[in-house]
Parts: sequence; structure tokens; C-alpha cells
Amino acid sequence: MSADPILEPLNTAQRAAVTAPLGPVLVLAGAGSGKTRVLTHRIAWLIRAHDVSPHSILAVTFTNKAAGEMRTRVEGLLGMPPGVLWIGTFHGIAHRLLRRHWREAGLVESFQILDAEDQQRLIKKLLKAEQLDETRWAPREVQWFINSNKDEGRRPRSLKAGNDPTRAQMIRLYTLYEEACARSGLVDFAELLLRSFELWRDQPAILQHYRQRFRHVLVDEFQDTNTIQYAWLKLLVGSESCPFVVGDDDQSVYGWRGARVENLQQFGRDFPAVSLFRLEQNYRSTGAILAAANGLIANNAGRLGKTLWTNGAQGEPIRLYAAFNERDEAEFVCQRIREHLAHGGAHRDAAVLYRSNAQSRVFEEIFLSARMPYRVYGGLRFFERAEIKDALAYLRLIVNRRDDASFERVVNLPTRGIGAKSLDTVRAAARTAGIPLWEATGACLGEALGARASAAMRGFMELIERLAVEVAGLALHEQVDRMLAATGLIEFHRRDNADRGEARVENLEELVSAARGFGGERLETELPPLEAFLAHVTLESGEGQADAWEDCVQMMTLHTAKGLEFPIVFLCGMEDGLFPHQRSIANLDGLEEERRLCYVGMTRAMRQLYLTYAEQRRLHGIDSFSQPSRFIKETPEDLIEEVRPRLQVRRPVAPGRFARATGAEQAAPHRHAEYSSARLRDPPPAPGMRLGARVRHGKFGEGVILTLEGSGPQARVQVNFERQGPKWLVMQYAKLEPL
Ligand code: ATP
Ligand code: MG
Repeated sequence: MSADPILEPLNTAQRAAVTAPLGPVLVLAGAGSGKTRVLTHRIAWLIRAHDVSPHSILAVTFTNKAAGEMRTRVEGLLGMPPGVLWIGTFHGIAHRLLRRHWREAGLVESFQILDAEDQQRLIKKLLKAEQLDETRWAPREVQWFINSNKDEGRRPRSLKAGNDPTRAQMIRLYTLYEEACARSGLVDFAELLLRSFELWRDQPAILQHYRQRFRHVLVDEFQDTNTIQYAWLKLLVGSESCPFVVGDDDQSVYGWRGARVENLQQFGRDFPAVSLFRLEQNYRSTGAILAAANGLIANNAGRLGKTLWTNGAQGEPIRLYAAFNERDEAEFVCQRIREHLAHGGAHRDAAVLYRSNAQSRVFEEIFLSARMPYRVYGGLRFFERAEIKDALAYLRLIVNRRDDASFERVVNLPTRGIGAKSLDTVRAAARTAGIPLWEATGACLGEALGARASAAMRGFMELIERLAVEVAGLALHEQVDRMLAATGLIEFHRRDNADRGEARVENLEELVSAARGFGGERLETELPPLEAFLAHVTLESGEGQADAWEDCVQMMTLHTAKGLEFPIVFLCGMEDGLFPHQRSIANLDGLEEERRLCYVGMTRAMRQLYLTYAEQRRLHGIDSFSQPSRFIKETPEDLIEEVRPRLQVRRPVAPGRFARATGAEQAAPHRHAEYSSARLRDPPPAPGMRLGARVRHGKFGEGVILTLEGSGPQARVQVNFERQGPKWLVMQYAKLEPL
């Protein structure tokens, strides 16, 4: 066969998957084995070998960035643009459907998307209106209640409170929240999916249309689909379409958000004719990196089981660095990147991955002072900065006056003399009449509102109306520019003399550039540019800043890194309590999910992998001293080499004794012999005592072993007891009985 661009760059197993007969296909394979590649090539293969029209292909990816890359790849494989191929995230595609069928979906045409922060503001407002105490009804919990029910496909009316008054109140809040969203024309993220699911479920003609159209539905990262996404897919696929899904149970990291790794098995039950493919060769990482990741994930129970090997070189060992504190950690990373640059490498080769967004700040400070260009994906969220959200709120009002959240945000910003009392009057009027704030304000002018307040409100409303007329027909970036000038937002921040004001003005200017660079075709061509832009920034705000394509160090959370790859990866903040996260340590499912997250992190690395931790860390203003992450101990020790300042020694230090070399120790390397004889991972201290084993204690009852440390009489064990929660015990005295 002559060199075929679609099949030639594939190994035998990958080729078999790409050319599988038309019907349900499941590819279950480990990290870096080419799942995403197979999915992309399958699309090209369908178009070329089966003459499938791109019109009938729907591909769901994990991020908008991945969707963009996939489109480019397909184009490259076919040698031409694939045309009207739908590729996007679940949210992006659901949004597109709702825009097309807003009427049938029971929405207003100009509906706006509510992001997580706006959602919380709205909930706070509801609590206040209901005179409910925020300490008793935490907005976060209410938000979680609403979203997780939506993720499971449940509306308030289908929920039963039983005899539980707390639950009854939650259900009531959920109902009030839905009413508020309907009044303002707002749709939150979970609603996008639920609403489009209901659209198909309740409108057979529409469902039929899409079933006939999308004969090929392909899904990447299938292990992270939740209940509603799976139901949505199943509805769409029906019995005639060909679903092609790829996933890896070891990379399921969204259980906390309702993802169900069981969907992988459910798929096999729902589509009994499924062809199953496994890919076993990893093309991404060196032997050492792969062995480290495999060694770590072997600590999880209940895996579907996969083999993963590489033909590549063993490569360099995994490097471990024990920093004094978080600044030292960031400086170390910075230094290593400099060395990489000195050897001709690029900034973008390096990725700094961390468990929680708050960790990025110190890196940013150090990088800034070192003049190291960097980009934070998902963390800083350009589009979520306050000043940007204010500007967006104005734009939203221009498009949709019913948007109460935006109204509240900017009605008195910059200050125009509208007091809290006047606002309360308007809110009360809106609530009584069940109308948006905008309408209520109109009705209150000159009546319920005094003369001064009326004048101020009228000025605000006229400003919006005038802007709506003025910007119509302008190019998108001119619309943004005009709005910034007319509303006085730029002036407002410029008057703020602190550096802060200047940075905000720069960000607002950056918004104009973002608008200039926005290609409406990326999301929803049928929408007017301003509305397409607003939908785009909400859907994509978590993914990056306006100018994310320059050559810079990549910084992101481990969750955001899923599916990506980088030559050099720094996994930072490897400390118990931070990673694994404190919340998850106490239950086995949570801990296993954290371990999978660590596996995702390690398998992002192509050539070099660094693990770093700080002995002392200040986070959220609190100093803490933590143990190195248990995930370090779970990584095969012969693959790890500890890096110390000015001196490199083979590590292995006993668990819990990651003593940092003092100056004296550095001068006397023989001291390390004392440590290197210690074992990184001890054998089980007693038969049946292993991680995850169920045990019984005379006093505390039954529980699960979370941690084992040390050996012999000193061995310590941490058990999560069903009734008493996690406890540390000395093995010798605990008299645990294996179950
Ligand atoms: P993840 O689980 O992290 O999402 P994946 O299974 O989707 O990984 P890909 O991202 O598709 O894996 O592939 C990993 C890397 O290996 C990519 O750089 C890809 O181009 C490369 N690769 C995949 N298959 C082959 C092959 N047959 N020959 C050469 N390189 C390959
Ligand atoms: Mg992938």
C-alpha cells in the first residue's frame, strides 16, 4: 500500500480500531497510547473510506482547545477543510443546540450563560431575599445541591423531601433559583446539558432530525462523562448510529463532579454489539516515566486492568526536589527551566502542574521577577477578573436587558448615586411582579423611587439603550471599545492610582484585543458577533487567556492538563493534604481519584518528570508543615533521584523522614548512607494489612486502611473507621483484625 496519511502513521491495533466496521466501538487504553489520535484518524477515515458526509459527524472532546486541534488534524489528514463537522465540548454542543431551538427548549432567544461565580452570586441574592442565614445555608452547598441534581437529570419537582426539613428547604431554593434564571434568561452550565437532553426527550421530531443527521458520534475522554451526558449520548445515538468512544478508567478524575467511570462498562451493556479495542503501546513518555506512573496506579484497587509499555528509551530518572518552602520550590522550577532554555529548549516545552489554582500565585511572582514568560490556563481566568466581568456585564445588558445578574453588577458601577435602598425597592417590585429588574426599574421611575434615584436610574437605562443602538453594525472590537468609553469603566480604573488600577486598564484594553482576535466561526456562526463572543468567553473562560499562543511556560491544574503532553513536567506541591487533597484523604474512593489524578499528571511528561514538595508552605495565609505526598512513596524508588542544591545524591529516605540536607550534610555526603539504607516502601507490617484492606478494631469498629508507615513494632497505620472517621494507630497495640 502506498503511504496512506490516515492509516500509515498508526500501529496495528490503532489501525484496527480506526478501520473497525461501522457499529459501536469502544477503545479502552492507557495514557499516551494514541486514543485521541485514533479518534481523529477515525473521523478522517469515515470521510474518506466510507464517504461519510462531515455533516453527519459529531465529535465531543474535553476542551475547546482540543476541539480546535482535532479539526486542524482532520484537515491535515484529508488535505482539505472538513467543512460542517460538529466538534466541541458537551457544553459547547449543548449550547449550540439550544441556540438553534431556543423556542422549543422554552428559553428566550437572547439567553445568556451563567458561570459558576455568577451562579453563586445569584444564590446569595436568593438567600438574602428569603432572609436565610448564609452560615446555615452555605451558598456553595446550595449550588452543589442544584448542580448535582441537574447532573443527575433531576428537576425540583421530581425531588422528594420526605421528613427532612433541610432537604425541603434545599428543594425550595432550587425551585426559586430556576424561577430566577427563567426570569432573567439565564442558563448555567449544568442547565445547558439538562435542557438540551429534555429538548430531545420531549420533542421527538427534533430528536429524529439529529438522530438521522449524526450517524457518527465520537467521544474522547469517555471515562469522565456524567449521568446526564451519558443519557444525552444514548438518546442521540439511538439504535442506528455508530458511537465511537475512547477512554481510560485510570484517568477518571471528575468523580467529585458526578462523572461515572462505570459508563465505560455501561456502554458495553447498552450496546452489546460493541467492538472492543485495546491499545497497549505508549508513544509519549520515556520508560522511566511510564514505569513510575504504572507503579503508582498499581496501588489502586478496582481497575479494569490494562497493559502499557513503551518502545522508547528508559530516559532520565524521575527527579525529586524537597524545597524549604513554596518560594524555594518555584525558584527551583524556574532554575531548571532556565537550564532547559540554555540548551536550546523552548518555554512552552515546560509545564508546571499543581493540584489547586491558588498554588500558581507564587510561581507567577517568581516567574515575573525572573522575566520568565508564562501562561496560566484556567487559573487566573482572564475572563473571570472582576473588571472584565463588569465590562462583560455591560455587553450582556446591551444584548439582553432581562439579565438580572448583569444588571446588579453594573447598575451602580462606576458609581452613579444609586443607593442600596433604591435597589431594594426595585428588587422588591421585581419579585412581587415576577419581572426582571430592568422592567421593574422602568415601573418604579418617578413613583416608588424618589426624584434623585429616578434620575440616576434613568441615566443608566438610557446609557444602555443608547449603546445598543450605537454599537449595532460596528465591528466586534469597536463595540467593546465604544462600550468601555461610554460607560466610563476605563476612566473609573484609571483614577485608581494604585498599580491595581493600571493593571485593570491594561486588562480592559486586552479585552478589546481579545474581541479583535475572536473568530465567530469557532463557536456559533448563526449568532451575531457580540452574542457569539459572550457565549464563547463564558464557555471557554476556564481554558486560557486571550493570548495563550505565545512561547511561554504552561501553568495549569492537573485537571486542566488531561489529554495534553509536554516534554518537561513539574508536578508541584507533592504534599499530603495538598495532594492528595485533605478532603479526599479520609475516604478510599476520594484517595483513589487523587491517585488517578497523579497518574494523569505523570503521564503528561514526555522526556523529563520532576516531583517537588515544600517542607513548609504558606497557602491561603496559613503556614503548614506537611509530610511528602504518599504518592512519592508509592512510586518505585529505583526510578527516583533526589536533587539537592549543588549536590546530587541517590535518594531514598525513610517515609516521613524526608530530611533535607543541611550544609553540614552536603559537605559530608557519607551521611546519606544512613538514609539510603532505609526503604522507601516498607513491606506490609502484618499479613492482610495492606492499603485498602478492611479491618476491625475492638473499640472503633470496621474501617479501611488508608496509610501504612514503617515496619516492625513501630509501624503505624491510618484507618478510616466507618463510624469514627480516620484515625492513626500503632500497629502493635491496635490489634486490628483483617476482614
Ligand atoms: P491520553 O490518555 O493522555 O489522552 P492518548 O491515548 O489520547 O493519551 P494521544 O495523545 O493520542 O494518546 O497520543 C500520545 C502521543 O503519542 C501523541 O504525541 C501522538 O502523536 C503519539 N502517537 C500516538 N500513536 C502513535 C504512533 N502510532 N506512532 C507515533 N506516534 C504516535
Ligand atoms: Mg487523549
